Amino acid sequence: MPLDITSLIEANAGRNYALHTAHINPRFARVLQTIGFDRCYTRASGGSLWDHQGRRYLDLISGYGVFGLGRNHPAIKQALLDFLALDYPSLVQMEAPLLSGLLAEALKARVPRDLDTVYFTNSGTEGVETAIKFARCATGRSRLLFCEHAFHGLTNGSLSLNGDLTFRNGFEPLLDGTAAVPFGDLDALAAALAAGDIAAFFVEPIQGKGVHVPPDGYLRAAAALCAQHGTLFVADEVQTGIGRTGHFLAIEHEPGVTPDILVLSKALSGGYVPIGAVLTRRAIYDRVFSSLERSVVHSSTFGQNSLAMVAGLATLTALDDDNAIEQARANGAYLLDALQALVPQFEFLHAVRGRGMMIGIELGAPQRRALRTAWSMVHRMDASLFPQAVVMPLLEDHGMITQVAGHHMDVIKLLPPLTLSRDDADAFLAAFTAVMRGLETFPGPVWDVLTRIGRHVLTDRTQAGAA
Ligand code: PLP
Repeated sequence: MPLDITSLIEANAGRNYALHTAHINPRFARVLQTIGFDRCYTRASGGSLWDHQGRRYLDLISGYGVFGLGRNHPAIKQALLDFLALDYPSLVQMEAPLLSGLLAEALKARVPRDLDTVYFTNSGTEGVETAIKFARCATGRSRLLFCEHAFHGLTNGSLSLNGDLTFRNGFEPLLDGTAAVPFGDLDALAAALAAGDIAAFFVEPIQGKGVHVPPDGYLRAAAALCAQHGTLFVADEVQTGIGRTGHFLAIEHEPGVTPDILVLSKALSGGYVPIGAVLTRRAIYDRVFSSLERSVVHSSTFGQNSLAMVAGLATLTALDDDNAIEQARANGAYLLDALQALVPQFEFLHAVRGRGMMIGIELGAPQRRALRTAWSMVHRMDASLFPQAVVMPLLEDHGMITQVAGHHMDVIKLLPPLTLSRDDADAFLAAFTAVMRGLETFPGPVWDVLTRIGRHVLTDRTQAGAA
């Protein structure tokens, strides 16, 4: 009997956390349970999710940025349904597929002209691995530079470019010859490039961890320095690309920056199908695929699969039809300005930064003594716990899904759909203001919850240490 997916889902409603505890990642299931994120979502549309009890949630992280156009976008869905009805071939392998050719053409029309060749991947990290291989092969050099606090993915090569020890620990030794420079520091970059032995400099135009925006002119000057030293400039726009920051690419905030290699992924297929794309200059491509024997020297079986290509084409079309990039620019600026206006009102609120629909809210130590003592106590229990004091009540009391932006950083990140409405932005602002008020009430319920979770974390750590 064929699978009846509707019945299967209905028959197993609510078993999510039991299944994950038994079969997948019990620790992560436990984290979600501890912070009250153990919901069972059963419906999604645009910027909203509904749980099995029918409660609506406003999704302000959009699947870590893949749902740039919102969940279950009707036009992308329709294109996929239409395509499935065609019984069109995919992954013949020994052919040049039409659909990847069309998506490559459509992508090239939106990026700097020099980026004239496209390689398709299945994820962001695979794009970064591709960029590492292309850069090494094209330059004949092996060393790679990245930025402190960088995140480029978690496979071996991209992890070697990760600026956070928490991710690296336990997996070393990683790639040889990698080094970090401070993000935004041109002198440090120039010094690191000076020996002329660096294959590539990898940079996120806005760092995802902590949402750090570089100083004006940094990307342009960094690209020029790289060119001067024969180093390839790799823009990792996995998160910032496809309109997220109010331009198709975040490098467009600094006119005139053309990377040697550009990596895209996440939102490119509307969140429906894994996808990624690496765009580069023909000369670099030709150094890699340098002969007939080497014409498939780098590839991946699922790389140009038809569903991903159709979803990509439909996404680029919908991006224009929905005027999504302009919406991200205008409503993102509205949200950013309104959040920045709250900074003087709350002791814990230190800074708000970002561009378009990529916003980081930085918390920090308060002035008042009682609050400061409580704040220090929570940090002593666990370095990453404090922002949960905002993230948890936003979910529990207001039905808003946000995330902490990285390990050991008191930053909350918003990555809503580009098409987040003004009404939803206003709803978030009201909820956030109420939560910040609660946080500044000590003693109070938020602090009780934090202490309870802190104890949980300490117990877990002790048990893990004893095991
Ligand atoms: N590069 C950046 C800038 C990212 O933000 C991410 C993921 O968050 C990656 C690479 C890795 O992408 P993936 O998770 O698809 O491997």
